[in-house]
Amino acid sequence: MLEQAQRVLKDIFGYDSFRGRQGAIIERVAKGGDALVLMPTGGGKSLCFQVPALLRPGLAVVVSPLIALMEDQVATLDELGVAAASLNSTLSAEQQRELAARIRRGEVKMLYLAPERLVQPRMLDFLRTLDIALFAIDEAHCVSQWGHDFRPEYLQLGQLAELFPDVPRIALTATADMRTREEIVTRLHLQNAERFLSSFDRPNIFYRIVPKEQPRKQLLAFLGERRGNAGIVYCLSRKKVDDVAAYLCDQGFPALPYHAGLPAETRAANQRRFLNEEGLIMVATIAFGMGIDKPNVRFVAHLDLPKSLEAYYQETGRAGRDGLPADAWMAYGLQDMVMLKQMLQNSEGDERHKRIEQHKLDAMLALCEETRCRRQILLNYFDEELLQPCGHCDNCIDGVQTWDATEPARQALSAVYRTGQRYGVGHLVDVLLGRDNEKIRNFGHEKLAVYGVGKDRSEGEWRSLFRQLVARGLADIDLEGYGGLRLSDTCRPLLRGEISLELRRDLKPQTTSKGSSIGGSPASQLVRGEEREQWEALRALRRKLAEEHGVPPYVIFPDSTLLEMLRSQPASLSEMARVSGVGARKLERYGEAFLEVLGGAAEAPPVVADLRHELTSLARAGMTPAQIAGQLNCSEKNVYSMLAEAIGRQQLSLEQALDLPEDLLAEVQDAFLDGEGELPPVSAIAEQFGTRVPEGVLYCVRAALAAEFEM
Ligand code: ADP
Ligand code: ZN
Repeated sequence: MLEQAQRVLKDIFGYDSFRGRQGAIIERVAKGGDALVLMPTGGGKSLCFQVPALLRPGLAVVVSPLIALMEDQVATLDELGVAAASLNSTLSAEQQRELAARIRRGEVKMLYLAPERLVQPRMLDFLRTLDIALFAIDEAHCVSQWGHDFRPEYLQLGQLAELFPDVPRIALTATADMRTREEIVTRLHLQNAERFLSSFDRPNIFYRIVPKEQPRKQLLAFLGERRGNAGIVYCLSRKKVDDVAAYLCDQGFPALPYHAGLPAETRAANQRRFLNEEGLIMVATIAFGMGIDKPNVRFVAHLDLPKSLEAYYQETGRAGRDGLPADAWMAYGLQDMVMLKQMLQNSEGDERHKRIEQHKLDAMLALCEETRCRRQILLNYFDEELLQPCGHCDNCIDGVQTWDATEPARQALSAVYRTGQRYGVGHLVDVLLGRDNEKIRNFGHEKLAVYGVGKDRSEGEWRSLFRQLVARGLADIDLEGYGGLRLSDTCRPLLRGEISLELRRDLKPQTTSKGSSIGGSPASQLVRGEEREQWEALRALRRKLAEEHGVPPYVIFPDSTLLEMLRSQPASLSEMARVSGVGARKLERYGEAFLEVLGGAAEAPPVVADLRHELTSLARAGMTPAQIAGQLNCSEKNVYSMLAEAIGRQQLSLEQALDLPEDLLAEVQDAFLDGEGELPPVSAIAEQFGTRVPEGVLYCVRAALAAEFEM
């Protein structure tokens, strides 16, 4: 059995060996047994049901909660030459009938559908007339009422056990916690399933958490090292999402917003672009999440603190699904804590629930202030032990300095107490530093014993100290009042001098793009300088093929496969077949074309094509020609002429390319249309606009008119 499975793996998928427990899982299901698979994102869950589906006779039925996920998988299988289809609401009645007929004729191997569709009595009756290879229940944690992805329809999937007692069922999820696991087993009637639990470590993700100083600058520095890579920036509020996305565009980064407040079409369009284009940054609330199967998300950045380690793990986990190096970066500060605590306070739910949430938040804060290996702490929270520090997180590579903060902590707490436990950190720091301002004088705080006792430390050090006191629960935020600090019960022993306190020393914040401590994982770019050109050529070819086939680029080949081509430089089809990810079908379809690029023959044109493609992306993201010129490192004149070309080919609208005032646009259009017959050349009208309108603008307007009238 395993031998056959190996052959399918190589021939169809182009991979040499199974990863982790894939082999065992596939064997179990192929032989007809049930399985519960807990594997982290990117672990390779899909193969666990796709390979047995190909090994067993009949139709494999895959339950998936989102159309986007289904379509992604169907497109991927399609490219591999496997007959797959998804049955969803986007199909017309006619198309559904056709699909049913194809299924009856045995022409479909894998059918993807949503749970609510599967459990319709008519559907179940239909399936009972067929030979079913297996049922796969993807994202099985959706059955859990406690998780945030709860889908009531999943609860009905339990009946499959009774209706199809002889068909193996495999449930898969990347959600690790014990409670969800048990719920899956009971709700889906998987008592006889063998459990396959993998490590939840994501070794390719580099974790870094930095104190928030000037968050936007810090973010820019982080992004600056990752130009051209796709990533997600998470923010807490919709407004902040909009602001940050606009700011990034201003700064020359192609960014798109995503949150629940945007019209459904905009959201869908932005998501589609994120999947289909390369190098876009999605600025999003957590509404952007499940269903993002894009394998080459190179980084996830948090500008606000997630509310639990579960959320942090899940959100950061969207990076690096393809196994290549990826970054999880976060900036956090005291204000985050205030905000989250306030949200928690105001949330619905009973006291017990709030207490649980509070504990979860505390665990998140503890990770931020942690001095040991971040990965060890994170995995430990999910009941997994990592024996050695990972060597692949900020704490491991920078080394954390701690210092004895007992005395200053007491001074800080004393400042909280003496001022009446109602002021925020800003004022408290002013008191400690002995600053002279109106607020201090109004309240007579210059007369306090603590006034000015902290002059030997900087403002930043005091802020860091207060942040850590709150994170450790030694001071509390007064949520009924104005968010000032109060003493908490746990700080008494410290005040009485019974215990001492070691705190983390913040690294000097760096906002330049030099040096690795702002953002840098050791490998923030996948390819080295001298490989760049060929890499871009490979990507350009992939993009062209993807456009022709109407699929995202990663469906043609994942980055890891392109990277292996780049490094191993296959020179013949048989060498190409050895590259991981090149199966028989793809070899036949694309092998020659990629060999040609590697051989150097087709190098020049794709690079230019690539530049053009990037240009239209940037223009669509709302960048001005000057910004685009900066980003692409070419002259503005060049940008205008490429924009005009793109407009002429109708790849870009004039509105996307330029932001012209309406009356000026009308004036220019009139100038072109004044005469009879053909459009005059730009040179004929340039004079009348002088320096008022750049010549490049005229070219663009002319191109738009020409395209419109097909002249
Ligand atoms: P998950 O669903 O667990 O997040 P996927 O099934 O999407 O993960 O797999 C992640 C990536 O790893 C995909 O690009 C997939 O093709 C690749 N992959 C899976 N199994 C293997 C394997 N045995 N060898 C090489 N690549 C694999
Ligand atoms: Zn570590």
